[in-house]
Amino acid sequence: MFKKILIANRGEIACRVIKTCRKMGIKTVAVYSDADRDALHVEMADEAVHIGESATAKSYLVIDRIVQACKDTGAEAVHPGYGFLSENKKFQEALAKEKIIFIGPDAYAIEAMGDKIESKKLADKAKVSTVPGFLGVIKDVAHAKQISGEIGYPVMLKASAGGGGKGMRIARSESEVQEGFERSQSEAKSSFGDDRMFIEKYIEQPRHIEIQIIADRHGNTLYLNERECSIQRRHQKVIEEAPSPFLDEKTRKAMGEQAVALAKAVQYVSAGTVEFIVDTKRNFYFLEMNTRLQVEHPVTELITGLDLVELMIRVAYGEKLPLAQKDVKINGWALESRVYAEDPYRNFLPSTGRLTRYIPPKESANVRVDTGVYEGGEISVFYDPMIAKLCSYGKDRAEATAHMRAALDAYYIRGVSHNIPFLASVLGKPKFESGDLSTNFIAEEYPQGFSDKDLPAADPSKMLAVATLVHNTYARRAAGVSGQIPGRSRKIPSKWVVATKGADGNYTETPVEITAEVPGSGGAVKIGAETISLTTDWLPGQPLFAAIIDGKPVTIQVDRKGVGYRLFHAGSQADVRVYTQREAELARLMPNKPPPDLSKYLLSPMPGLLVTLVVAEGQEVKAGETLAVVEAMKMENVLKAERDGTVKKIYEKAGASLAVDQMILEFG
Ligand code: ADP
Repeated sequence: MFKKILIANRGEIACRVIKTCRKMGIKTVAVYSDADRDALHVEMADEAVHIGESATAKSYLVIDRIVQACKDTGAEAVHPGYGFLSENKKFQEALAKEKIIFIGPDAYAIEAMGDKIESKKLADKAKVSTVPGFLGVIKDVAHAKQISGEIGYPVMLKASAGGGGKGMRIARSESEVQEGFERSQSEAKSSFGDDRMFIEKYIEQPRHIEIQIIADRHGNTLYLNERECSIQRRHQKVIEEAPSPFLDEKTRKAMGEQAVALAKAVQYVSAGTVEFIVDTKRNFYFLEMNTRLQVEHPVTELITGLDLVELMIRVAYGEKLPLAQKDVKINGWALESRVYAEDPYRNFLPSTGRLTRYIPPKESANVRVDTGVYEGGEISVFYDPMIAKLCSYGKDRAEATAHMRAALDAYYIRGVSHNIPFLASVLGKPKFESGDLSTNFIAEEYPQGFSDKDLPAADPSKMLAVATLVHNTYARRAAGVSGQIPGRSRKIPSKWVVATKGADGNYTETPVEITAEVPGSGGAVKIGAETISLTTDWLPGQPLFAAIIDGKPVTIQVDRKGVGYRLFHAGSQADVRVYTQREAELARLMPNKPPPDLSKYLLSPMPGLLVTLVVAEGQEVKAGETLAVVEAMKMENVLKAERDGTVKKIYEKAGASLAVDQMILEFG
């Protein structure tokens, strides 16, 4: 077996590959950029080589540096992970020249599958079912209209070199072809330097279902069943699962066999994925083949019990696959949620910064966390803002979903915004629960974007009970501090008033009584006519309140916030204060401070760079006029006046770095 492998990647996938290498007794070499000096993959590897500056074009994408790192460390093989150089023919050729083994398919297969028109032609030849359409390059708009008419609307305009959902558009009429064709074409030209377009039928309410395959150099090619990845946002996968709730045994077998046929047609070795779209009648059509390990491979590993990275390494070394098709089983159900540093409440704007607190859920037979971050580490602007892939496993879909919900509740992330509220919301949608999925799921379930209203209803009495017990514990601890004036010791009441902040900023009071209490192990709480019992080993200071509440395990995150608490559960949050009767009386007398009127200010909607400021102090502006341009994540965002007014004061000049909600200027 190989003695040393270099991992030409970073983040969670580099860590994932290192884990398998360790298990197999193979030494590992990490490569890293400036920004990744302290990254987890660097710490986990046996050796690490610095390969350049933070920008990927100056480090992770520089073929020469990586080849040099192999030579310097004596690595015999390279695992490319996904993204970066994983599907780059030149990288393979450079490695081959130095007799370093690429852990993946041969250049020929990568090239054949890298182009959508060519791969579709190949698939057609291998008798794989493809989306009806025109298998050639569309010359111009007139040609596009003619072909679309022949195929029948709706159609999908696609860039042959496309990827990541770019250069792709639905057209439902001739006028939409007119509008969309040239835009897709120029998008393709600027993103891929290749403007070849083709057209196929648009499949309505499609599901995205893909087949994992693995092949060795001895003619064995197996399919490791499917993954359903229909929960997508802008053609990017958000939640994946295996198996698919939609496939029957017959369709699974047919898809698996076609995937194998296609792999054989290009003499495929290593792990690969054949993507299909499936219509509502279970007709399936080839989309593309990804010639690498996929992000979502863990769900396949969980239901098959196989280690895909290990199999890739073994076949790259020349070994035979240790199993046959009949040995590939589906055991149980697995889900994967992609946990991202982004703000779902602000249209999923990427978030960057330091993870001031980071406590992932505990891994177990039911929970797997693939991550490349740690507490104190930074989510930088240079790379994909993925925090982790959170997988759950159960004997069936309902059990896997329950484990996923619990794991999301226990995932404690502070310092950056994250999408856990959104993930919890998706899991709570009835259509998700019933497995009624399509790639339109997110667009249809969140037509106005994501907001608090999309969260599953939290059980308010549970939140109140936890807040009261937590506060009671802190109060008892404060009363027990030594050195207090004799005779003045505080009494801990059993009756409390919990004030919960509403969306309007006002507090609603609920009387709560602690009817039983065993410090350190829970108690019982009475709210109105309801009595709630809690068993917990929570200790003051712990951010996670894990308890058995009325017989069910529940995890609620508890942050102290001023004189109150902020609780998180099932994606929602609540701000509460717990008062004694007297404190509640006094709190009622406190003047209600109205929130400041921010409508006079232009605030930065995101962290970024103030590129231009168009207006000056004293200038009058009309509604709709451009005020400033803020650049964030390589995108320019134009900020416009919402109504007529006069610029009174300017706070920031062009070139300033802005935090989210930072004031840029004030209107008079
Ligand atoms: P990319 O390489 O950019 O990811 P794909 O061809 O893999 O593009 O398609 C991405 C997604 O777009 C699919 O998962 C599916 O949701 C949708 N899609 C692609 N082609 C069609 C089609 N003909 N009809 C309906 N949806 C499609």
